[in-house]
Amino acid sequence: MYCRNCGNVVNDQAVICVTCGVPTGRGNNFCPLCGEATDSMSQICMKCGFSLNNYGQQKSKLAAGLFGIFLGAFGVHRFYLGYIGIGLAQLLLTVLSCFILSPIIWVWGLIEGILILAGSINKDSKGLTLKD
Ligand SMILES: [Zn+2]
Ligand SMILES: [Zn+2]
Repeated sequence: MYCRNCGNVVNDQAVICVTCGVPTGRGNNFCPLCGEATDSMSQICMKCGFSLNNYGQQKSKLAAGLFGIFLGAFGVHRFYLGYIGIGLAQLLLTVLSCFILSPIIWVWGLIEGILILAGSINKDSKGLTLKD
C-alpha cells in the first residue's frame, strides 16, 4: 500500500511510514491503494474508486470474534460492529429473561464469533471489511 501522507510505498503490515514518519492511514494526500494524488476533501480516489473516507476505520476481526465468543450473550460483538439492533436484542433477551436464555444467546454469540474469525461474517454495519 501507499502512504497517505507522502505517497511512498509502505509495507502492508507497517504501522508507520518509514519515509515521512506518519502513522499509516493518516494524511490525505495520496490514495493508499493505487498511490494516486488525492484531494484532501475527496471521499473516494478518482482513479481506482477506493473509499478514502473509511480507510483506517475498519474494525478488528479478532476483537469482534473474541467479543462474540466471550461476551456474545450481551451482544457486545454486534455493538462493536455497529449492528445495534441485533446487539440490543441479544442483550435484552439475556437480561430480560433473568439470564434463563443466556446460554442460548451465548451459543448464538459464540457461533457468530466463530463465523467472524472464520471470515464468514466479514463486514461491519457500514459495509467496511474487517481487518485481520
Ligand atoms: Zn509517508
Ligand atoms: Zn486509488
